[in-house]
Amino acid sequence: MTWQYHAPVVQIMAIYQELLRVDEVLSLPPYQEFSPDLLQAVLDEAEKFASEQLLPINQSGDKTPAVLKDDEVMTSPGFKDAYQAFIANGWNGVPFAPEYGGQGLPWLVSTAVSEMWSTTNMAFALCPLLTQGAIELLSAHGSDEQKEQYLPKMVSGQWTGTMCLTEPQAGSDVGAVATKAIKEGEYYRITGQKIYITYGEHDFTDNIIHMVLARTKEAPAGSKGISLFIVPKFLEDGSRNDVKAVSLEHKLGIHGSPTAVLTFGDDGDGALGYLVGEENQGLKYMFTMMNNARLAVGVEGVAMAEGSLQQAKAYAAERTQGGVAINQYPDVIRMIQGMEGEAVACRVMAYLAAKGIDMMHHHPDQEIKNKQLALVDFLIPMVKAHSTDTGFWSASEAVQIFGGMGYIEETGIAQYLRDARIAMIYEGTNGIQAMDLLARKLVVNDGLAYRAYRDEMQQWIEVASGGKWTLELTSLLEQISGITDNLRQAVSAAPEKAASVAYDYLQMIACFTGCVIHQRVVLLADEKICSKATSHNFLIRTLPKVASNITIIQNILAEL
Ligand SMILES: Cc1cc2nc3c(=O)[nH]c(=O)nc-3n(C[C@H](O)[C@H](O)[C@H](O)COP(=O)(O)OP(=O)(O)OC[C@H]3O[C@@H](n4cnc5c(N)ncnc54)[C@H](O)[C@@H]3O)c2cc1C
Repeated sequence: MTWQYHAPVVQIMAIYQELLRVDEVLSLPPYQEFSPDLLQAVLDEAEKFASEQLLPINQSGDKTPAVLKDDEVMTSPGFKDAYQAFIANGWNGVPFAPEYGGQGLPWLVSTAVSEMWSTTNMAFALCPLLTQGAIELLSAHGSDEQKEQYLPKMVSGQWTGTMCLTEPQAGSDVGAVATKAIKEGEYYRITGQKIYITYGEHDFTDNIIHMVLARTKEAPAGSKGISLFIVPKFLEDGSRNDVKAVSLEHKLGIHGSPTAVLTFGDDGDGALGYLVGEENQGLKYMFTMMNNARLAVGVEGVAMAEGSLQQAKAYAAERTQGGVAINQYPDVIRMIQGMEGEAVACRVMAYLAAKGIDMMHHHPDQEIKNKQLALVDFLIPMVKAHSTDTGFWSASEAVQIFGGMGYIEETGIAQYLRDARIAMIYEGTNGIQAMDLLARKLVVNDGLAYRAYRDEMQQWIEVASGGKWTLELTSLLEQISGITDNLRQAVSAAPEKAASVAYDYLQMIACFTGCVIHQRVVLLADEKICSKATSHNFLIRTLPKVASNITIIQNILAEL
């Protein structure tokens, strides 16, 4: 089957205007020249690029993965040309500062645009996603000289970036990184091996800037002894640095994205690396860009939910059984409505976090900035884990709607299922997200992050007050606050037990947030975001899940 893609631009604009008060973002100092019309124009152009340039090479990228030959990678057919078109159109620099050549648009918009790249070609979209992470690291922690040297070319996309954290013994436990960095005058000699490096080698550009975590000679053990280095593939004088891809992984999905094993210093004394900031602060630096990177991966989940929904709807309208299109059968309607309701909920959650990122950076009032930062901190692990769980679940529902045609590779819907699975693993597994929510976000600053979330939810409930679900949601929020207090105590009194319900807590929060979103949507005058039937269905089926998660957590904690 040939895929069709229609970006949900009408829905996105309605989310901006009717739920998220986009005017609050557009009145922030850096964004005052942008109007809703301009945002709409950006989204329309992005849809065009995604459907005309990225979608047509999505299935071929799946069938013809990148190959490694003589240390060089040849990417899937059409990917290199698409990348050239991508950067020529300025898409690489959407959220970045105009002083480095970026478009300076809000993250709220950049997030919607990135969703379109991932929906139409997740394997391709990973390249700009990783470059984005590297740009943010350098913007926040690089010296003026480093910023001048690297940012203009990375923002334009002339050079790409990677994030080199993982080693065979250092996955979730990043503190176990063993790659070595030995100081030699102005620079360091880097030796070691990194695995699973996304776009660690490719043929899109003539240089790749690796952001590498390594350990200096006298560094303390564990996470306190990790430093961050810039390791370019090509050095300033044009010579090749001693970093190379020794193999590419054969993966379940995202075949068009080359995932490399990289070695540093295989041919001599070590690759040249340049320290970012101070020694031993590498993990701290990584944390500053984690919110955005985790949001970006959460958005991949939204993208997979949207893509599989669109294909399933199109198939169900065409496929007949028993003399009627299968989309007339209540069980198929149940699946489609369920996918639709979840896609909307996850999209709004992700955009709420993106708006928070804009507000926490640019709002003139420090108190509001702090509160938005706390809200973002709370939302991010939920967005990352729940949206990526949903992306995979939605792809699985789509396979079900395709029936036998879903299970065979020719129709291509199986690609969504395979592609979607990785987002639950990288950028901190979803289990690690749940632990982050429980053991860090509930605890630091005496629960400030939860309070910011609770206040936000309260406001949303109040805006729709008098609705059918107001009383139930208000009561659930009280119960959630009570259980959050209990859990905060359990984190120190019985950490193992608390950790065992971390995922239940994350799911409870995600289901509740989705219900709060849909009770607003169901009361809107129009159906631009989704039909009232879809929101109703979501609320009826999801509210009991919140209650059931509360019971699970209470019962397990009661055994303390
Ligand atoms: C296709 C692909 C692309 C990738 N791209 C990159 C990249 O560009 N750069 C990069 O640096 N890395 C990359 N990674 C690596 C990825 O981030 C790691 O695979 C991920 O962080 C998990 O580490 P691990 O595989 O070692 O699993 P492990 O850490 O061994 O985890 C295995 C299981 O144990 C659980 N677990 C582990 N520790 C804990 C704990 N403390 N508490 C609770 N549960 C725990 C995990 O949740 C998971 O379920 C990529 C991986 C893949 C497959």
